[in-house]
Amino acid sequence: MSDITQKLEQTIRDIPDFPKPGIVFKDITPVLANPEISKAVSEAFLNYWKKAQIDVIVGIESRGFMYGLPLAQGLDVPFVPVRKVGKLPYTTIRHSYDLEYGSAEVEIHTDAIAPGQRVLIHDDLLATGGTAAAAAELIRKIGGEVVGYSFLVELAFLNGRAKLADKEVHALVTYS
Ligand code: AMP
Repeated sequence: MSDITQKLEQTIRDIPDFPKPGIVFKDITPVLANPEISKAVSEAFLNYWKKAQIDVIVGIESRGFMYGLPLAQGLDVPFVPVRKVGKLPYTTIRHSYDLEYGSAEVEIHTDAIAPGQRVLIHDDLLATGGTAAAAAELIRKIGGEVVGYSFLVELAFLNGRAKLADKEVHALVTYS
């Protein structure tokens, strides 16, 4: 097991029954609060994706912004937010999907990605895969090519990977 995986396992906090009974919420705030581990997380993402040809990082609101932006800066590519409905000020397109808890709708600016650009989607956690698949749908609708998915945490027992077609999926920690 890599050093960063071990550190994350020790640092991410489990919150039982949040936000609903039966859900164990993986709280990454202790990771954000630890500069050494937080820097190591950014370095691990950069190290993993630096050889892939990526034109744009799409980060998913809100915890996908936290390490998505430093990854974009490290790769020297643009960062684009996918947000919950009603937050983006310019012209948007929407997509609705089911969550592990409830349902949601996400948006992207219509001019955020140029046709043919190679996009990496980043979020804090892969659960059922609905959120990341919805982001991919938005990207494809505006002409981008999704080349991979990046997460801090993968809940492998929910089999979210199955929704992400055959693209590369990387997580720093996997719970099976
Ligand atoms: P899903 O669409 O089911 O893959 O859910 C992923 C999204 O919901 C991510 O944006 C996560 O931040 C959030 N999420 C889902 N389940 C959890 C969990 N157990 N702990 C923390 N965040 C979660």
